[in-house]
Amino acid sequence: MTEHGFETLLVHAGQEPDELTGSVVPPIHLATTYAQQKVGEHKGFEYSRSGNPTRAVLEKVVSTLEGAPAGFAFASGLAAEDAVLRFCRPGDHVVIPNDAYGGTYRLIARVHGGYGLEFTPVDLGDVSAVEAAIGQRTRLIWSETPSNPHLRIADIAALAELAHRSSARLVVDNTFATPYLQRPLSLGADVVVHSMTKYLGGHSDVVGGFVATSDAEVAERTAFLQNATGAVPSPFDCYMVLRGLKTLAVRLDRQCANASAISTFLAEHSAVAAVLYPGLDSHPGHGIAKAQMSQFGAMVSFILRGGEEAALEVAASTELFTLAESLGAVESLIEHPARMTHLSVAGSALEVDPGLLRLSVGVETLEDLLGDLERALEKVG
Ligand SMILES: *Cc1c(COP(=O)(O)O)cnc(C)c1O
Repeated sequence: MTEHGFETLLVHAGQEPDELTGSVVPPIHLATTYAQQKVGEHKGFEYSRSGNPTRAVLEKVVSTLEGAPAGFAFASGLAAEDAVLRFCRPGDHVVIPNDAYGGTYRLIARVHGGYGLEFTPVDLGDVSAVEAAIGQRTRLIWSETPSNPHLRIADIAALAELAHRSSARLVVDNTFATPYLQRPLSLGADVVVHSMTKYLGGHSDVVGGFVATSDAEVAERTAFLQNATGAVPSPFDCYMVLRGLKTLAVRLDRQCANASAISTFLAEHSAVAAVLYPGLDSHPGHGIAKAQMSQFGAMVSFILRGGEEAALEVAASTELFTLAESLGAVESLIEHPARMTHLSVAGSALEVDPGLLRLSVGVETLEDLLGDLERALEKVG
């Protein structure tokens, strides 16, 4: 189906009407086990952890969207990341972003670190710093672009080249951009990971993760680990992501347009010291973002002149922007990373400015969102 446009793929890829019934949406297959005609002879499914038809549809769809020959669904974004990190052995090394998602940092530092994985946090926007951090046992360059919560941009093609020069692999956490805005494998990355909990699901009602890869060895190992460690999503959760995915493009078009207008409004507001949004000319990664993304995403971070006190006041004052963790769904959210999503990196190289707020911009009427922010900012202006 690759000759079709992306929006068509979202609705149709891997989702031909059910052969048996004609159902236009994929059935939720709850069976845990499948009848075999003879020992070892079956219709492709034996046991639901090893393979499930609803999950197989989701895996086909997300792999197609990422342009990947293989893809594997997991119970959460972190479960997907854990499978990729298990490529490393004790003493191996990974380069990680100095503003990785807090849970990614915790997984690397406090789980895999405990089994001897070495890591170096680096500003991935600085290609020579990444080069300097690569050693003989570097297996992975782990990247997130745009990053969380600083919305820093990493040059995927440049990092892929660096990784391949030293026989490491480039992993891109594509959660913030989604394959609608950015396709890392086409830029040379080896592995894409997702928290499907965010934009792919898109409605704050399902937790899931994904690994897509163009590397046959990674695919074989991930398939093995998905079954061997068993962190698989339920058939219902797979269905929920499939349902959300169909509107990914229309949701993101509106969300990106809202975010862009909000970033301009904030940049002009006297209570705001800085706006971090890759769509702004002033953003250091703007040029690369423009080259590797089709739009700039719907996450906006900003730093209050009044520091932490002002940030906490604004976070508590908005009404349409719900104060909550997570991101990527149709409703707008606001959060304070230093005390919420990024509490686990306090005191590390990844610590976040306590005056920073992060917005996940939804699909609501723009004027309503701007009015909500205006009223909240008045309190600290
Ligand atoms: C949420 C998130 C994760 C973790 O995903 P879960 O589904 O919560 O396990 C990883 N990376 C990024 C960028 C995220 O936003």
